[in-house]
Amino acid sequence: MKVPFVDLKAQYLTIKDEIDNAVMSTIHDTAFIGGKHVDEFEKSFAELYGVKHCISVANGTDSLYIIMKMLGIGPGDEVITVAHSWISSSETISQTGAKVVFCDEDPNYFVMDVKQLEGLITSNTKAIMPVHLCGHVCDMTRIMEMATKHGLFVIEDCAQSHFSEWKEQRAGTIGIAGSFSFYPGKNLGAYGDAGCIITNDDELALKCRMYARHGALIKHQHKMEGINSRLDGLQAAILNVKLKYILDWTESRIAAAKYYDTVLSDIPKIQIPQRMPETKHTFHLYMLKVERRDELQAFLKENGIETAIHYPTALPALEAYAYLKTPRDQYKIAEANSASILSIPIYPEISKEMMDHVAGTIRKFYTN
Ligand SMILES: *Cc1c(COP(=O)(O)O)cnc(C)c1O
Repeated sequence: MKVPFVDLKAQYLTIKDEIDNAVMSTIHDTAFIGGKHVDEFEKSFAELYGVKHCISVANGTDSLYIIMKMLGIGPGDEVITVAHSWISSSETISQTGAKVVFCDEDPNYFVMDVKQLEGLITSNTKAIMPVHLCGHVCDMTRIMEMATKHGLFVIEDCAQSHFSEWKEQRAGTIGIAGSFSFYPGKNLGAYGDAGCIITNDDELALKCRMYARHGALIKHQHKMEGINSRLDGLQAAILNVKLKYILDWTESRIAAAKYYDTVLSDIPKIQIPQRMPETKHTFHLYMLKVERRDELQAFLKENGIETAIHYPTALPALEAYAYLKTPRDQYKIAEANSASILSIPIYPEISKEMMDHVAGTIRKFYTN
C-alpha cells in the first residue's frame, strides 16, 4: 500500500466538476487579475472569519512582509519570532530592515516558548510574530498580555493554522493582523501561490491594500510606492469553490489526527502531538517526536509511506542567520527537536487503512 505525504489529486477529484467550471468561467470572463472572483473571495473569507477586512495577496510570505511594512516596522526595530518555523517568518522581518530576534520553542507543542519571550523584549522591540506551527495555536493569552504591557504589535503567522482556535477564538483574529498562505499543500490550498491578510484595523487594511497594489487604490493615483502582490482570478475562483468545503475538511483532519492518536499512542519511543487544552489544533501537520528518526523515515519509505521533516534545521542554525550569532539558549529546544521530528501523512481524504498501515509500520520498526 502506498501512502503519499499529501494527495492533492484525491481532493481535486471530489470537486472536479466545480473546479473545472470555475477555471473555465474565469477564462471565458477574462477575469485574470482582480475582478469578481477575487472580490468574492475576499468577502467570503472575511465573513467566515468574522473580520472587517481581507486583503488578498500573491502568497503567504508577502502577507507577512506587507503587514509589518505597513505597521511602520523598519531599520532599528526588532521583531521576535520563533526558532522553529519556515524561513518566511524570519526573512520577511529582515526584508523590512528590522532585526530578527529568535525565541526558542516549547519542547512539547512546537510553538513559541512564552516563558522565554518576555526576557527577549528590549526598548527596540516593535512586534511579536507567533507562528501557529502544524495548526497548534500559541499561548495567545500570554502573548497578548506581554504585547499590551510593552506596547507591541502581534502579527500572527497562520500559514499552517487555517481555522485553528485559541479559547474558541480563531487564530489570525487575536493580534493586529493574521497572515495566511494558500500554497497548494496548505489546509486551504490554491493551485499555485496565493495568500491573504485579515485585520479589523481599518487604517492598516487600507495601507496594506494600497501597498500591495503599487501604492494606488485607484488606477494611476499612486499615493506611495508599493509592490505588486496580487491574488489572481484563477486562484480566487478555485479558492471560492474550496471555501464551501473547508470547514468539513478541517473536521476530517481533526478526526484523522484522533484516529492516529489511538493507533499510535501505545508505541514506545515515539511521542504523538501534544495539545494545550485551549487550542483547537487543525493538523496541517501531524508531527511526531521519535527515536532513530532517519532510520524510521527510511523504513517507512521502503514500505510505501512518504514522510517529511518540518524542518531539518532550526532557523538560527541556518547559514543565512549565522551573522546574527543568536545565543544557543534561544534555540536549543528547537535544535534538539529538529533531529527527532517526523511529519506523517495527514489530509482530509486519508483512509483508516492508510493510517493503520502507517501505524503498523512504525510499530514494526520499533519491535524488530
Ligand atoms: C507556508 C508558510 C509560509 C509562507 O507561505 P507561502 O505562501 O509559501 O509564501 C509562511 N509561514 C509558514 C509558517 C509557512 O508554513
